[in-house]
Amino acid sequence: MKINLANIKKAQKLLNKSECVAIPTETVYGLAGNAYSDIACKKIYKLKKRPKNNPLIVHYLNNQILKKDCKFNSDFLKLYKKFCPGPITFILDLKKNSKISKIVTNKKNTLAVRFPKHPITRNLLKNINFPLAAPSANLSSKVSSVSSDDVRDDFGKKVKYILEGGKSSIGLESTIIDIRKKPKILRLGGLEISAIKKILNKKINIHKNSSKISSPGQFKLHYSPGIPIRLNVKQIKKKEAYLSIKKLKQNKQNFYFLSKSGNLKEAAKNLYSTLRKIKKDKYKSIAVCKIPNKGLGKTINDRLKRASKF
Ligand code: AMP
Ligand code: MG
Repeated sequence: MKINLANIKKAQKLLNKSECVAIPTETVYGLAGNAYSDIACKKIYKLKKRPKNNPLIVHYLNNQILKKDCKFNSDFLKLYKKFCPGPITFILDLKKNSKISKIVTNKKNTLAVRFPKHPITRNLLKNINFPLAAPSANLSSKVSSVSSDDVRDDFGKKVKYILEGGKSSIGLESTIIDIRKKPKILRLGGLEISAIKKILNKKINIHKNSSKISSPGQFKLHYSPGIPIRLNVKQIKKKEAYLSIKKLKQNKQNFYFLSKSGNLKEAAKNLYSTLRKIKKDKYKSIAVCKIPNKGLGKTINDRLKRASKF
């Protein structure tokens, strides 16, 4: 996609004035504000109707800039070198003299940080002198946005500006890893755990105990299209939309698929837009067929499971 410098300038001007701007990333669109500004960060929570105890991910251009705000360790550096910029978010310890707004962290002494790969957002980050707090650009507990139209559908004119960046290439949120001590995955995401394991060459724990939430991406109802979802369905009910991983031989009006051939990467990219489309097509519920629980299929199943707690 061509970079339109005038658009970036417009976003930059608004961000400099502590306004919120929607930005494209390779995972999902973000609702961004100056992470050093209390005013900007308060606006993000208000727009998203996000609970105050759900801290924000902060986006940096590179780790040189991050150095001012967070402490590093060798595991972080290994993963940074291999996967950044890309779909991985690190939980790190904040430095005492960091200027990150307390609104971002909900007064925690840790920070979730990410280095987005999308060229438009990287260009924007180069042109501002603060990092961007940017949770997903959707209303709290609902499906994330993977296009500027999704953001418009959710917020209308309430978001001052949407920086156009085409459809998100990954379409799932980042994988969150707490890297401060023993590596622990807090949220499955666009980067597979097996790839992380290969680099760190050590055991990686996965946070499973949902009664002890350390990252609200673990909240039970999340990523919801606003209608009930049934999982692992073999028999569809009347008037239900049916969502399959690949295109079926039989093709009815209420049949939707995530990838023609059942490719998991493609399925991930199409997941949220398909859920949104089914809702727009006025179906009252969704039946989902079994999705292979491997690689990105694990993340897809995680999202569908949470979305089904309607
Ligand atoms: P989103 O709002 O969709 O961008 O998701 C951001 C996720 O990062 C949420 O699940 C947050 O709870 C999580 N998060 C942000 N900061 C922290 C932190 N310091 N510790 C643990 N999780 C965090
Ligand atoms: Mg989100």
